Order: sequence, then structure tokens, then C-alpha cells
Amino acid sequence: MRVLIVGAGIGGLSAALSLHAAGIDCVVVDAAAELRPLGVGINLQPHAVRELTELGLGERIEAIGVSTSFQVYTDRFGCAILSLPRGRGAGYMWPQYSVHRGLLQMTLLEAVCERLGDKAVRAGLALRDFTETPDGVVASLRDTLTGEPVELTADVLVGADGIHSTVRSRLHPDDGPLLWNGVRIWRGITEIRPFLDGRTLAVIGSNSSRKLVAFPISPGRPLVNWVAEVKVAPGGPLFAADWSREGCLEEVLPHFADWFLPWLDVPGLLAGAERILEYPMVDREPLPWWGRGRVTLLGDAAHPMYPVGSNGGSQAVLDARMLARCLALYGPVEGPAAYEEDRRTATTPLVLANREMPIDKTVALVTERAPLGFHDISEVLTPAEMAEMAAGQRRITDMDARFLNERPSWSVS
Ligand SMILES: Cc1cc2nc3c(=O)[nH]c(=O)nc-3n(C[C@H](O)[C@H](O)[C@H](O)COP(=O)(O)OP(=O)(O)OC[C@H]3O[C@@H](n4cnc5c(N)ncnc54)[C@H](O)[C@@H]3O)c2cc1C
Repeated sequence: MRVLIVGAGIGGLSAALSLHAAGIDCVVVDAAAELRPLGVGINLQPHAVRELTELGLGERIEAIGVSTSFQVYTDRFGCAILSLPRGRGAGYMWPQYSVHRGLLQMTLLEAVCERLGDKAVRAGLALRDFTETPDGVVASLRDTLTGEPVELTADVLVGADGIHSTVRSRLHPDDGPLLWNGVRIWRGITEIRPFLDGRTLAVIGSNSSRKLVAFPISPGRPLVNWVAEVKVAPGGPLFAADWSREGCLEEVLPHFADWFLPWLDVPGLLAGAERILEYPMVDREPLPWWGRGRVTLLGDAAHPMYPVGSNGGSQAVLDARMLARCLALYGPVEGPAAYEEDRRTATTPLVLANREMPIDKTVALVTERAPLGFHDISEVLTPAEMAEMAAGQRRITDMDARFLNERPSWSVS
């Protein structure tokens, strides 16, 4: 069996490693002329770290990531509303890592090249279309340097081509535009004195107005990744969103100019970034089905979600592992359907829960009741409201620790 993976992002490269581990041949193509470490920080949840560890990458990921100790939700004065232990502290057998997306991608790419050979990943090849034949798939691509058409055949085609997926658009021509909730996101990385215990992910404020997420992402240097989110419009359909679009300080700083927390100088954090990126908070309507026959989708191509639960990259890793398992167990015709059955059922509720933003609702309630801050959260929220907030975290991000620790491995020999 030979699998053609379209897209060498976190999902596509994890799929290549997973397929190789399951004894399945594959090749990865990417439209980018050169794969470079783009983006800023993301989080790998314990469920994804388990899969990467089982792929033999545990030490490499540990070397580039910061093992997150706590996720603390605060109001805009830095008063703690809820503090949740993460990773091993929450009872998982695997840590949660905050990591630079580009470094993670390069780490996966390095492993793919070592294990599958240098020719396993072909940059500068953009998929344009595909045709299913009785015994395979014929992919039509374009060499992005020469403009020449290129044809590749495979037994299975996997669209891991991100939120603007061509594979998805061919399978679902009526899919509709991106859906924007009106929140604009600015992202950056700043060298700054570590805050709190140096391993905490802080979520300050809420998406009902302004929110700032900050977490350290480098084990060697005091680099803090920040994500500033501001509701700027009512939202609606959107036809473009570019992960690499440059943003500017003058646009984002006024929203946070007076956010001086006892443990974090937010204006200083924003102003200290060498480069600022800008992106709208978009997702797509969950699909009633992903793929057809020997063609399927994976990662953001299948289930783009708001980055509220820090779960997009992690879910792509889970997709990759389950896809390899199902192809190994059920073959190129029934495997994709079995994979989709498992992963679509798991990810659709996540897309919807991230859209609903359960935690932001409680943080907004705190701001409403205590607009100037508070001393003790028990004076502001009832135990039931606190419990509801913690439950929100489980809905958008977490897998039950005992379930994850005890479930059999997805590895196949
Ligand atoms: C350049 C870039 C920067 C990002 N930065 C951030 C960030 O800072 N923070 C964050 O939370 N998320 C970021 N993301 C998204 C994040 O990586 C994903 O949400 C998540 O990791 C799931 O990854 P994925 O592999 O499904 O998709 P992606 O990471 O989006 O990867 C998709 C890949 O498919 C390739 N591709 C697209 N169309 C075609 C085609 N027609 N033919 C061949 N290849 C194609 C793209 O070049 C890309 O490499 C970024 C994505 C990209 C592409």
C-alpha cells in the first residue's frame, strides 16, 4: 500500500511517521517551495504527547518544549479565577508541552527524513485535483517553481492540507466559506523575565472583550509566546485567512495599554516582540462526512477549530495515528472509513465546544460581578459555577486522564 499525504504540517508529517511505524509506504507533498519553521507557539496536550512518544519522539519533543505546570485563568488584573494542573500534575502519564510550531514541524520533518529517506517529503508540489480509479487515486499536482504539471498515483490520498484544503474543497464543493466569530488574533514571541513559576500558561480576560494568552515556549531561553484576542466585529463568513500575515503593534497595543498585572507587564510583552502576526479566529462548519473511498482528510483540513482549547495540533496528531492504525488493520478501501468513523465522532464535539467558549462565559461573568478585581474568587463565583468552568476545560481540551493512561496503544506492528 502506498499513501500520498498532501501537506507537510504537523498532521501530515505525523501521519508519515505513523504510517512508516505501521509498515506502510508513503510520500508527503507540500505546496511550500521550502519547509521553514513558521508560526509561533502551540500546545501539545498529553494525548498527543503519548502518540509522539510511542513514535519514539519523546526525548526530541522534550528538548524543544516547555512542560506546562498549570493553566491559570485570571481576570484582566491578574486575579486568579481557576488554576488547573496540567500534564503529569493532572494525573496523565505524559506531560503537556508548549512548543514553537515551526520547531515542532522541523523536528517531525527531520524524523521523517531519517526514517523514510530524503525523498519522502517533496516540497514545491501543490495538489490541484485528484481522480479515483477502481484500484487507486491519481493526483494532479503543479510544480510551484516551474509551473509544470505532475501526476502521482497512490492507493490512498490523505488531505492534510490545512484550513484552506484543496482536497476538502474537491470532496465538498458546497462547503462554504470560513466562519469568523469577529475576534482578531495577534501573535508574537517576546524575550521577557519568566512569570509565575516559569512554566504556567496564563489565560487573562475573555473573548467577550479582550483576552491575552501567554506561555513560555523555550526550555533554554526566557521566550514567552503571547496571543492577544480582541472582539473587533460581529463576525460572519470570510474568504481569506493567512497564518503568516504581518500585524502591527499600533493595532493591538491600545487594547491592552493599561494591563499592568502584578506578575506580567502586558504592554511590555506586546511591545517586545520582534514580529507580530495577525489572524482572524475562524473555523468551518463540521462536515457530515470527511472522505470518500480511498480519499480522506486529516487535521485542520478535516476539522479546523478555534484555538481556544489549544487542541488543533494535538488532534491532528491523533488523526495521524488512528489513520495509520486503520489502514494497517483494514486496508486501503475500508481503512479510511473506519478512521473517519472514529475521528469524526471525536472531533466534531470539540469544534462545537471551542466555538461555544464555555470558560470565557464564566470569566465574563466574573468581570461583570467584580469589574475592579477581587481578593478571593469564592466571593464572586459559586462552587457550582467553578465546577462548570473546570468542566468547560474538559470539553474543549482534555481527555480523561485515567482513560488515556489505561487505553491500549494505537501502535500496530
Ligand atoms: C504557515 C503556518 C503557520 C501556522 N502558525 C500557527 C500558529 O502560530 N499558531 C497556531 O495555533 N496554529 C498555526 N498554524 C496552524 C496549525 O499548524 C494547525 O492548526 C495544526 O497544527 C494542524 O495542522 P495541520 O497539519 O492539519 O495543518 P497545517 O499546519 O495548516 O499544514 C497544512 C500544510 O498543507 C500545505 N498545503 C496547503 N495546501 C496544499 C496543497 N494544495 N498542496 C500541497 N500542500 C498544501 C501547507 O503548505 C501546510 O504546510 C499554522 C499553519 C501554517 C500552515
